[in-house]
Amino acid sequence: MQSKAEAEVEQVKARRTRDEERLSSGAITNPKDLENLQHELGALERRIATLEDEELTVMEDLEIAEAELRAVTADHDALVAELEHVTAARDAALAAIDDEIAAVQSERESTAPAVPKDLLALYDKVRAQYGGLGAAALRARRCEGCRLELNGADLRELAARPEDDVLRCPECSRILVRTAESGL
Ligand SMILES: [Zn+2]
Repeated sequence: MQSKAEAEVEQVKARRTRDEERLSSGAITNPKDLENLQHELGALERRIATLEDEELTVMEDLEIAEAELRAVTADHDALVAELEHVTAARDAALAAIDDEIAAVQSERESTAPAVPKDLLALYDKVRAQYGGLGAAALRARRCEGCRLELNGADLRELAARPEDDVLRCPECSRILVRTAESGL
C-alpha cells in the first residue's frame, strides 16, 4: 500500500518537474497554453498534497497494526508457555498414577497367593460387580463400601459368626473386613 502511494507521488512529482521545465524554458508562448499549464501545475500540487496525506494515514494505520501484532504475539507466546506448563504437569501426574498402579499391582501380586482361592474368586466377582471395590472395612457399624450403617440385628448376626468366617455386607454384598473399630 505504502509503496504504491509512494510510486504515485513520484510519478506526479516527475510530471510537475516536467511542466515546470516547460514553463521556464520559454518555449510556450501561447497565453491559452500557458494558462492550461499553470492550471495543471495547480492540480498536480493538490494531488501531491492528497497523496502525502494518504501516505501519512497509511503509516499511522501500519503503526497501529504493528502494535496489535506485538500484543497478539505476546498473548500467543504466553499461551504457548502456559500450554507447555500444563502439559508437563499432566505428564507428571500421569507418571505418578502409573507408578501408583504399578505399586498396587505388585502389592496385589505379592498378597494374592496368600489368600484362599475361593475367597479370592469371591473378591474378584464382587469387585467386578462394583467396579473396583470388592472388600470394605466395617468401621463404627458402617460398611465403608456402600457407606450404610448396619442395623442391630445384622450386627448381632455378624458378631456371632466365627473369627475365620468371611463376612458379607447385608446391604451391598461386599466382603466385610473386621477392624478394631467395627462395633461388633
Ligand atoms: Zn455395604
